[in-house]
Amino acid sequence: MPDWLDSWMTTRAAEPEGQPCPYCERSMVPGTSREPTTEHVYPRVLGGTLSGGNKLIVCLPCNNEKGRMTLPDFLGYLRERGDPRAKIVNELIRSRTEAKVGIRIVGQA
Ligand SMILES: [Zn+2]
Repeated sequence: MPDWLDSWMTTRAAEPEGQPCPYCERSMVPGTSREPTTEHVYPRVLGGTLSGGNKLIVCLPCNNEKGRMTLPDFLGYLRERGDPRAKIVNELIRSRTEAKVGIRIVGQA
């Protein structure tokens, strides 16, 4: 691994090391398949901002799986599959809606 990449990863992963992923609640460990990554809650491709309120540190598998879905879309996706992460994502939507930050709820007046 080149030095610049090593230091970039070290810096990026400094805080979330050992912290649970907010979606799956498993510990995130830099340099493993559970690498911490920056997730844009409201996807950038849909106009999501780069501000802190739109960012979460989540594990790589969850980030890859959510992809371009919004939180409500991701919730629907998880519920269809009976995935236990649906409960957490639902809580996250509620807390963020109450705080009026970051996400737009599709279909809500
Ligand atoms: Zn995760």
